[in-house]
Amino acid sequence: MTKRAPLANWLNDTNDVVAVFLAAGQIPDLINLAGGLPAPDAWPVDQISELAGRVVRDYPTETLTYSPVPGLPYLRDILAARYSTENSPLTRDNVLITTGGAQGLDLIGKVLLEPGALIAAQSPAYLGALDAWRPRTPRYNPMKLETEGFDPKAAMTGAQFAYTVPNFSNPSGRLVPVAQRQQLIDAARDTGAWLVEDDPYGKLFYDGEALPSMLEMCGDGSPYAGPVIYLGTVSKELAPGLRIGWIIAAPEMIKALATAKQGSDMFSSGLCQMVAAKAFEEGVADTALPGILDLYRARRDALCAAMDEHLSDLMTWEKPSGGMFVWAKMKNPAISTDALMKAGLDQGVCISPSSVFDPEGTDQSSLRINFTLNTPEKLTEGVRRLAATIRQMA
Ligand code: PMP
Repeated sequence: MTKRAPLANWLNDTNDVVAVFLAAGQIPDLINLAGGLPAPDAWPVDQISELAGRVVRDYPTETLTYSPVPGLPYLRDILAARYSTENSPLTRDNVLITTGGAQGLDLIGKVLLEPGALIAAQSPAYLGALDAWRPRTPRYNPMKLETEGFDPKAAMTGAQFAYTVPNFSNPSGRLVPVAQRQQLIDAARDTGAWLVEDDPYGKLFYDGEALPSMLEMCGDGSPYAGPVIYLGTVSKELAPGLRIGWIIAAPEMIKALATAKQGSDMFSSGLCQMVAAKAFEEGVADTALPGILDLYRARRDALCAAMDEHLSDLMTWEKPSGGMFVWAKMKNPAISTDALMKAGLDQGVCISPSSVFDPEGTDQSSLRINFTLNTPEKLTEGVRRLAATIRQMA
């Protein structure tokens, strides 16, 4: 009898912890600080609903039949114009529409990773990216970008690509400064590694001005063909249910990724692409943004105030200037955050432990707290419950 191939590459070492926190959503009265969900109050429900009806009526072919693999030219042109700068002029050939940013990560893995390939990844790293690439059994060089004097060149040597979330990383909430963005671009040029800039949080700046993207920084005035593969999404500015994301990259990279997409889902929903296109064109996304920023800024402030009051003797953290997360480190290294996550469920609070953001799955030192989903009152109560759990464990 022929032996069946092993499933090992598809099994997630962190399955246990991930399964626990996914199941936690079913626990009544639980305060979920673990997820990365936007607030439902932030969605422009009436506008999206009106747009959805209108685009089906006005564009039945684009919305209801099969679409071109790389995306509707209408939306690709809008995105090319939105991201074009004098230094980095873009055309639709630089744009691939994806089914959320999540599919962008998956396609990058399919196109760029041979089994066992090396990735230089900002550490800690986004769980969804680790999951997308796990079947290729990649090796990782961690990039601790916050370490004083860190030079990405060594980590990127021999790597297929470097993976970063420069604006308010998931999970660390960290903003990569402009000088370090330039170092990453220089290292990509020197080493020949691609530079994946995953940017779902790029609009969510609560304090200060937005920083230039690496995509924008590496243009030289000629049609864009640089090392940056940029990923965007409507998930945080409009609504994740639309499942519309995009990749902006050199035209030959877009062609390769489109070939991979063809074998994956053929095309992203034309209906959702047209809703996104009109939402950009008619300013729905831009109009909704100030309200989203006000809502999230207040929630971040409420979370950090509660943490200052209840957790400052137990953890260290930095208040993020944007995004959706606070990353906190336990002062007592004897308390593992995997154990804390499980113990917290009995107290009615759920956090994400650092092990799931570690390619090795071993880091037990830290945790991620989301502040966008819950009201200030719930955030404060969640922090109280978390502090009580830690004190019981000490
Ligand atoms: N990258 C990062 C860093 C994220 O945090 C997320 C969403 N949690 C994604 C990509 C994927 O987002 P989506 O598929 O909703 O566009």
